[in-house]
Amino acid sequence: MRLFLFLILLITPFTLSAEVLRVVILGSGTPRLDIDRFSQSILVEAGDERLLFDTGRGAAIRLSQMNVNLSSINHIFFTHLHSDHIVGFPDVLMTGWVYQREKTLNIFGPSGTKKFVENIKSAFNEDIKIRLEKPEELKMPGIKTSVKEITDGLVYKSKNVEVHAISVDHGGGVEHAYGYKINYKDKSVVISGDTNYSEELVNAANDVDILIHEIAAAPLSLINKSEKVRGIMNYHTTPEELTKIINQTKAKFTVLNHVLLLGGITEDKVLKLIKTNLDKDTEVMFGYDLLAIELTDRINTYSVDYTK
Ligand SMILES: [Zn+2]
Ligand SMILES: [Zn+2]
Repeated sequence: MRLFLFLILLITPFTLSAEVLRVVILGSGTPRLDIDRFSQSILVEAGDERLLFDTGRGAAIRLSQMNVNLSSINHIFFTHLHSDHIVGFPDVLMTGWVYQREKTLNIFGPSGTKKFVENIKSAFNEDIKIRLEKPEELKMPGIKTSVKEITDGLVYKSKNVEVHAISVDHGGGVEHAYGYKINYKDKSVVISGDTNYSEELVNAANDVDILIHEIAAAPLSLINKSEKVRGIMNYHTTPEELTKIINQTKAKFTVLNHVLLLGGITEDKVLKLIKTNLDKDTEVMFGYDLLAIELTDRINTYSVDYTK
C-alpha cells in the first residue's frame, strides 16, 4: 500500500504539470516587516518550467514551505531593483547552490541588474571559495550566473513559454521598472510590478487570464491630511484605478498583491470600492503568501503552505 501511494505521489506531479499554468504568491507584501506578508516574490509554473519573478524577503523559505527544492530555480526575473523585490536574492543564489543547483542561474532585470548580481557574488567570494573545496566540493556550474539586462518586449522564450517585459510607471525616482506578461500555450498571466496606473500594462494585459496587480489604499481623510501618504499613492495603484484597469483589460481573474493598506482601511472595504464600479462581475481577490492560482480550463485557488 505504501509503495502504491509513493508511486502515485511520484506520478501525480508529472501528470498535473503537463498542461497547467500555476501562479504562486510567495510574498504578497511590501518593505514592511510582516511575518504573514513577506515582500514581493511570485513563482510561475508553466508545464514543467519554473520561473521566479522577484526575490523578496524570505523567497527561499516560502519555496521550501511549498516543497519546491531551491536547486530547481534557474530563471529569475526582476521587476525593478527596489530592495523589497531583491532582498531575498542572496539566499536563493547561495542556498540554491548548497541544495545542489547544477546549472547556471539565468537572471533578467532592468539596467543595474548586472552590477547588483556581480556585487552580491563578490560579497560571498570567501564562502564560494570555501564551498568549492573539500569537504563540500560544490560544483562550479551551479554558482555561475548569466544576467540579461532587459528592455521592452520578448525577453525569454522556450518551447511553450514566452516572457515579455512591459515598461511601467513606478515614479519616485525609479527609472527602470517593468511588469511581465507570461504566455504559456493559450494561457496568460500578467504581473504588474510596482506601478501607478500604466497604459502600457493595460494594453499588454488585454483579455489576460490572470492579472497580478499591486494595490495601495488609505482612507480619503488620511490622503487629504498627509502629504507623505499622497506621495505613496502617486507611486502605486489605488482601488479606483484598479477598477479602471480591470474594466479596460477584461482580466478574467485579478489578484491584488504588494498589499499596502494604510490608516486602518480593510481588505473588505478595498474590494467593495473596486467591485462597485466593475462593468462585469469578474473575480477579484487579495493575494496572500503561498496562495496558488491554478489555471486549467477553469481557475482554482488554494494554499500551498504544506508546513501547516
Ligand atoms: Zn515594492
Ligand atoms: Zn518599488
